[in-house]
Amino acid sequence: MSFIQLNNIVKTFNDSQRQTETLAIDDISLSLEKKEFACLLGPSGCGKSTLLNMVAGFEYPTLGSVKIENKVITGPGADRGMVFQQPNLMPWLPVWDNVAFSLKLQGVGRKQRQDAAQQYIDAVNLTGFEQHFPGALSGGMAQRVGIARALLQNPAVILMDEPFAALDAQTKLEMQEELVTIWQKYNSTILFVTHSVDEALILGSRVVIMTHRPGKIRDDIKIDLERPR
Ligand code: ADP
Ligand code: ADP
Repeated sequence: MSFIQLNNIVKTFNDSQRQTETLAIDDISLSLEKKEFACLLGPSGCGKSTLLNMVAGFEYPTLGSVKIENKVITGPGADRGMVFQQPNLMPWLPVWDNVAFSLKLQGVGRKQRQDAAQQYIDAVNLTGFEQHFPGALSGGMAQRVGIARALLQNPAVILMDEPFAALDAQTKLEMQEELVTIWQKYNSTILFVTHSVDEALILGSRVVIMTHRPGKIRDDIKIDLERPR
C-alpha cells in the first residue's frame, strides 16, 4: 500500500449561471511513496492545483478517492503542510510568531512555541530574523517563513503550489537548493506543483507530467538521483 493514493480521480466544475461544466481532472490515478519529492508538471490550467488541493482537503473529487495511509481524506489537517505562491504572512506578527501560529491556536505556551519555531527558522536560513516583521522581509525571505511554517508540525507530506514562481531567478535558484537540503535533512515527502520543466528537473526525485484539457497523466518519470543532474 502506497503512502498517498489518488484513485480514479475525476473532477468537474459547474458554472450554474452559464450552464457549463469543466472537466478539470479526467480519471487520474497516482500513488506516492514516503520520502518522494514528486513534481507535478504541466501547462497552466491542466489541473495541477486542483489535484494538489484535493490532497490538501480543500477540494473534493467528483469521483474517486484520495487516501493518506489508507484513510480517505475528509478535510485539511496538520498532517499536511501547505506552501502557496504567496506566503500570506500576518504583518502584525514577528517571524517566529508567524511560523508558530498554529501552535498558538492549539493553546501551546509562548516559550514552547518559540522553541518549536526556532529549528525550522534555522532550517530555512532565517536565523537572526526571528523578531523581524514581514514588512521588512524580501519576497524570498517571506517565502522562507512560509516554508518554516509548513514544516513546523512535522507534517507527513508538504504540499507546494508554485512556491517560487513569484521570485527573481537568483533567489529561486537559492531556494530550490535549500529545499532539496531540507527534503534530505527531514526525510520529507513533498508534492510540488510547477509549470517549469527546469524546476521539476532540479527538484524532483520523480516528475509526473500532466496534459491539458482534460487533465490526465501523460508520463511519470523516476529521476535517478545518483546520476549527475
Ligand atoms: P493548474 O493548476 O494546472 O493551472 P487548475 O487546477 O488551477 O490548473 O485548473 C484546472 C482547470 O479547472 C482550469 O480549467 C480551471 O479554470 C478550472 N478550475 C479550477 N478551479 C476552479 C473552480 N474553483 N471553479 C471553476 N473552475 C475551476
Ligand atoms: P496556478 O498558478 O496553479 O495556475 P490558478 O491561477 O490556475 O493557479 O488558480 C489559482 C486558484 O484559483 C486554484 O486553487 C484554483 O482552484 C482556483 N481557480 C482557478 N480557476 C478558477 C476559476 N475559473 N474559477 C474559480 N476558481 C478558479
